[in-house]
Amino acid sequence: MATFFDTSIEFLKGVGPQRAVLLQKELKIFTYGDLIQQYPFRYEDRTQFYTIKEVNETMPHVQIKGKILRFEMIGGGRKKRLVAYFKDSTGELELVWFQGINWVLSKIKPGIEYTVFGKPNRYGRTISIAHPEVEPVTDNKEKKGFLQPVYPLTEKLRSKYLDNKFLVKLQRELLTIAINHIRETLPEDLLKKQRLISKKEALINIHFPQSHQLLAAAQERLKFEELFYIQLRLIKMKLVRQEKFKGIVFNDATILTQFYEEHLPFPLTGAQKRVIKEIYADMKSGKQMNRLLQGDVGSGKTIVAFICMLLVIGSDAQVALMAPTEILAQQHYTNLKKYADLMGLSISLLTGSTKKKARTELHYRLETGELKILIGTHALIEDGVKFNRLGLAVIDEQHRFGVAQRSKLWQKNKNVYPHVLVMTATPIPRTLAMTLYGDLEISTIDELPKGRKPIKTTHQYDSHRLQINEFMRQQIAAGRQIYIVYPLIEESEKLDLKHLMDGYESVARAFPEVPISILHGKMKPDAKEFEMGRFVKGETKIMVATTVIEVGVDVPNASVMIIESAERFGLSQLHQLRGRVGRGAEQSYCILVTDYKLSADSKTRLNTMVKTNNGFEIAETDLKLRGPGDLMGTQQSGALDLLIADLSKDGLLLQQARDAAKALLEADPGLEKAENKLIKAQIESLRKTVVNWSRIS
Ligand code: ADP
Ligand code: MG
Repeated sequence: MATFFDTSIEFLKGVGPQRAVLLQKELKIFTYGDLIQQYPFRYEDRTQFYTIKEVNETMPHVQIKGKILRFEMIGGGRKKRLVAYFKDSTGELELVWFQGINWVLSKIKPGIEYTVFGKPNRYGRTISIAHPEVEPVTDNKEKKGFLQPVYPLTEKLRSKYLDNKFLVKLQRELLTIAINHIRETLPEDLLKKQRLISKKEALINIHFPQSHQLLAAAQERLKFEELFYIQLRLIKMKLVRQEKFKGIVFNDATILTQFYEEHLPFPLTGAQKRVIKEIYADMKSGKQMNRLLQGDVGSGKTIVAFICMLLVIGSDAQVALMAPTEILAQQHYTNLKKYADLMGLSISLLTGSTKKKARTELHYRLETGELKILIGTHALIEDGVKFNRLGLAVIDEQHRFGVAQRSKLWQKNKNVYPHVLVMTATPIPRTLAMTLYGDLEISTIDELPKGRKPIKTTHQYDSHRLQINEFMRQQIAAGRQIYIVYPLIEESEKLDLKHLMDGYESVARAFPEVPISILHGKMKPDAKEFEMGRFVKGETKIMVATTVIEVGVDVPNASVMIIESAERFGLSQLHQLRGRVGRGAEQSYCILVTDYKLSADSKTRLNTMVKTNNGFEIAETDLKLRGPGDLMGTQQSGALDLLIADLSKDGLLLQQARDAAKALLEADPGLEKAENKLIKAQIESLRKTVVNWSRIS
């Protein structure tokens, strides 16, 4: 059913077919609805007046009142300009025009009181404003003061004279004709409870705020609405799934107890115990578990996963663990095999490089149920892989699996879905987690095992290479091992590979007597494994690598992480890399190496790394620096394309929206009640426009 807001933008007065094409191409504005939801990204404050004495060149815009003393033409040819000397009771500045001089001279006269608005600049000791807006003070009276909207624009639009003034005009035009078509999209009592203004008022004031208070109210109302509907859909998905999908009940703790009593390698941290309890409660509940387990690097997620596996295997079901890379799958396999062997449990590894014969045998053992624990890469989700009875799927995510892949593993059982535990080592700020994983339960390990020495992180310039080498020499003499990591970013892959090779050669020259490994993504799997193996065994002392080591290896004896061109890495990635050291008993170090030229953001990233080891703190800073879309990679950013809310700033509102959505669905899970009809209709209309919401289902 087409509504007023589905009308093509072409038909709005002042647009027409040609401009419509531009608006579509440049701003993705196709309909009236798109335009009205094109919110200003800032406002110019016209409520405030400054005195000339207060004005300086750091101010973005100023509004002043005064009189023109006289005009003067300066320069000739292309440098010709008109200067007006403008004065109030506190001082004097210059207004300058390079174009439209005759028009200015015909309209603006000395001796009359004007309001002037523009961006102040400084030339020597003179403050000047180029091409200011000038209005007689009398005209300005009834408008008194207002906030002027500024809309996103592109160069292309500007070059076709579709500027901010034009967009302001369009919005005014649209609001005039749209006003009686704007329907409320939140129920009455929710508006009251949250103290939100109506949709109509909000749309008017987001574009043309009548006061600062009304602007704030409009923003809050629209943000809340946006977040509320996201949360409503996520929570609804969760409820539907819990309703529809029974979970296998696991509660035989026999082998679990045996492991605790005989083989537990270390006392668990409080946080580990807590999350294990949370997971057990799910697996006993009769409902299918979908839980995110997040914990910083080194917080001990592996043992938690294993302990959860035991509950499942104890009831004669199977478990699978899927990792994003071969190295990481291998690492998980090695770690878990230690525990599995203690308990006499069968465990196998399945990756792209598993040979045909081994694979066939593995398939057979899996189908008969003899194989209990299967670790692997996405090779696990291939059709040939059939479980006898899959009880728990653990997915080590690192943001690399797509939705489709995750749900495929999920569907490995015909009748009952297995429980799903998604593990991530990239701590996610709460606001992001609530949005990206809002349909999952969340468990957090927020405590590191006792006795860990915090990693000492420093920032060094390239020019201190000799000192860095000297430090490396000391560490190697003390028996430690060292990582040196180079960036490898796809667009410049060849060049990066060259940097890596150059780096390797200069390290080899500086340390001729030291055995060195090299590892990068272009190497064949067995070559990688061979090099990795040498380093793990301590045969090589230095590992020169790209970020392929980011997710994998655990070499407790490696105590130094040197990151070259550190300014090219994102914060979360730096933190992940640093997490490769600090795993043993020795003091560990992380050295971030850059040259002198650094952007402000790079400096913030480096300083944050030096200042803190806390992954959650780092994730928050990263979110502020990069915005949610970038943080998660393009894959999931669809879910983060918000019109107005900002996950890095609107945490409180998000929590309120989530609570409200939860309360509403608890009272009326099917949205059947009359007062919730509105909500149901709104969800339907959002479903049409927003793709890619159902991430896991
Ligand atoms: P991550 O959460 O990064 O996957 P791991 O599970 O690899 O962390 O654990 C990191 C290291 O800490 C491993 O060597 C592991 O054996 C050890 N570890 C885990 N839990 C504890 C604990 N409670 N006490 C001491 N060491 C632990
Ligand atoms: Mg791990």
